[in-house]
This record gives sequence, C-alpha cells and structure tokens, in this order.
Amino acid sequence: LLLLRRLEAYGFKSFADKTEVDFGPGITVVVGPNGSGKSNISDAIRWVLGEQNIRNLRGSRVEDIIFSGSTGRRALGVAEVSLVFDNTDGVLPLDFNEVTITRRVFRSGESEYFINKAHCRLKDIHDLLADTGLGREAMPVISQNKVDEILNSKPEERRLIFEEAAGITRYKNRKKEALRK
Ligand code: ATP
Ligand code: MG
Repeated sequence: LLLLRRLEAYGFKSFADKTEVDFGPGITVVVGPNGSGKSNISDAIRWVLGEQNIRNLRGSRVEDIIFSGSTGRRALGVAEVSLVFDNTDGVLPLDFNEVTITRRVFRSGESEYFINKAHCRLKDIHDLLADTGLGREAMPVISQNKVDEILNSKPEERRLIFEEAAGITRYKNRKKEALRK
C-alpha cells in the first residue's frame, strides 16, 4: 500500500503561506466554505503527479497556479508543492521508507522536479509512478466532469485506464522508448 502522508504547498494558488496538510490513516475529508481552497488541494496533488494541462487545474496560463496576491499580500514568483509518501511497503521502486516528490514552477513557466530533494526530470516522476495507481492514466484524482468524460471516451482511450490498472504501462513505455532508439 502506498500512503500519502503529507502535502506541503507554498505559493500554489491560494496557499500564500507555507501550508502543510497531514493525512492520517483512513479516509480524509476536506470541508470548508466556498472558495476556501478545498479544490486547490486536489489541484496541487494532481499537479505534483505530473499534470501538464493547466486547464485541468482550472487555469488557463501557468501564472494562474502561482499565488497572485490579495489585499496586503504581494504576488509570489514561484509555486512549490511536495507530496510525502509512506513507502514502507516498497510500492515505489526506491529504497526509502519515505519518498517526497516535489514540483516547482516559476512565472517564466520554467518547471523543476525533485525526488527526495534530488533534481530529476518529469519523465523520472512518470516512470516512478507508472503502475502504482498514481500514474498518468490511473486518475488518482477524479474531478466532477471526468466521470462523464470516461463514460463518453473511445474504447482505445478507455483501454489506457485498464492498462494502468493491470500494471503494464511501465513496460509499454519502455517498449515505445526502445523502438524510438
Ligand atoms: P467550492 O466549495 O466552491 O468548491 P473550494 O474550497 O473548492 O470552493 P477552491 O476552488 O479550492 O475553493 O479555491 C478558490 C480560491 O482560490 C478562490 O478564492 C481563488 O481566488 C483562489 N485562487 C485560485 N488561484 C489563485 C491564485 N493564483 N492566487 C491567489 N488565489 C487563488
Ligand atoms: Mg471546490
């Protein structure tokens, strides 16, 4: 089992201050008034997991996911979010009990990725997460409109979801890479 233990956000959307969310065992429910940032938490999670389409994060440009300022608060130049996973069961193929994935973006649009604080590529994050249930096609975060989208998708598109669930995405990606070389 791969458990999300903690989320740390700074400068992402409404999180102007460094914000930490601890996820205990069991189910976590986030409650709060409209506009208080509940959905921003799931956006943050999806973003670290590699979401590249700002529209899926309810924005249109990269600046929309960086804190844009409020009364008495200046806008920030960078957004950074980390997800801390409990890897004691070794689901992630890394020899660490805790794995932290971090993504950072600047107003220029330049992105940086880190695994356990070490610089890496987005591809390394996709490779790490493939077939863990958190990969690109696994849809660990399902938004309201996504349900309709899945129901209306073409069989070939829907197949990707099953391949991820079956744990063969990793091998398909490697095959694709090998054929390209
Ligand atoms: P609802 O109950 O209506 O779904 P919610 O708790 O899910 O609300 P969110 O959509 O997570 O609320 O948060 C929206 C808030 O985040 C808005 O107040 C919006 O101004 C703020 N916000 C979004 N992007 C930014 C940004 N780049 N900078 C500052 N604030 C932002
Ligand atoms: Mg919401």
